[in-house]
Amino acid sequence: DYRKIYTAQEYAEGILKGDIAVLSQAVTLVESSKPEHQVVAQAIIEKCLPASGKSIRVGITGVPGSGKSTSIDAFGMHLIEQGHRLAVLAIDPSSERSKGSILGDKTRMEKLSVDKNAFIRPSPSAGSLGGVARKTRETIILCEAAGFDYIFVETVGVGQSETAVHSMVDFFLLIQLAGTGDELQGIKRGIMEMADGIIINKADGDNIDKAKMAARHFKNALHLYPLSESGWSPEVLTYSGYYKIGIKEVWNMVHRFIDFVKESGYFDRKRNEQSKYWMYETINERLKNDFYRNPFIESLMPKLEADVLSARKSSFVAAKEALDAYYDQDN
Ligand code: GDP
Repeated sequence: DYRKIYTAQEYAEGILKGDIAVLSQAVTLVESSKPEHQVVAQAIIEKCLPASGKSIRVGITGVPGSGKSTSIDAFGMHLIEQGHRLAVLAIDPSSERSKGSILGDKTRMEKLSVDKNAFIRPSPSAGSLGGVARKTRETIILCEAAGFDYIFVETVGVGQSETAVHSMVDFFLLIQLAGTGDELQGIKRGIMEMADGIIINKADGDNIDKAKMAARHFKNALHLYPLSESGWSPEVLTYSGYYKIGIKEVWNMVHRFIDFVKESGYFDRKRNEQSKYWMYETINERLKNDFYRNPFIESLMPKLEADVLSARKSSFVAAKEALDAYYDQDN
């Protein structure tokens, strides 16, 4: 097992030197659910923490077909041409079910995938959304320690995962397409509210006017929302990821935002909030796992479930019995 070759110290040293092979292996440990791997992973993260935090973290979401991978390829190459290094991570809790991740897949990002200044990692595939997201959050720390100064976290804009991404990035970018004129339908209000920037892709050829019209719709819709906590009014832009039109403008917007929130203090405040959030998330996740994976609880739950379903017990009485049984075991 190659993972046993290195100690946590050696992993950390390799990562801090920017060794991508070592970084990759460390991420594999972070993603592993084996307790012995987790011990090493946590030690590596501790050692990398002081060198982390200096990147710009950007969440990128959009429905399948909106052009996420095309856009990430274009955005990433734009940043690399400016002298930056980019890590592309993903959160896709459904990937286990759908067999094979569709996010952060190297074959979808032609140029980035062969560039030595890019590190692309598909979504961790095992476990709950909370678990998957936590692993991505930890991987951000390792990537930053390895010298990546931009981190993209990609997710499909269809479910709960946006909230998880929002809780680990500085800027949340929503990719949209011009549709039939009613493009605002079908977008969850929550996602719109999270966005710091809405970018309408495929503004090329015959589609330019439609894209501009969609942009106007989005701008009008955003006016109806209360000002976000950052004090920043989300901007709406059109661009073409495929033909590389308007790419620079998208990044000018991101940088305007970063300057704005660094100036106001919101940038640091939000990062602190996020750290706190992940501490509690990690505790919650661990407590839940300990509880449900406890053999006695595992054997007890089907019976309690049946009691609740047949109305022999109320939900609350059953829950209390389960919790009491769990805590009594330790005494
Ligand atoms: P994803 O599923 O969100 O990752 O979307 P893809 O990046 O795979 O793009 C879906 C389809 O849209 C592909 O056929 C792309 O070639 C096409 N596409 C992506 N960006 C653009 C664009 O800017 N203009 C045009 N015309 N097509 C695009």
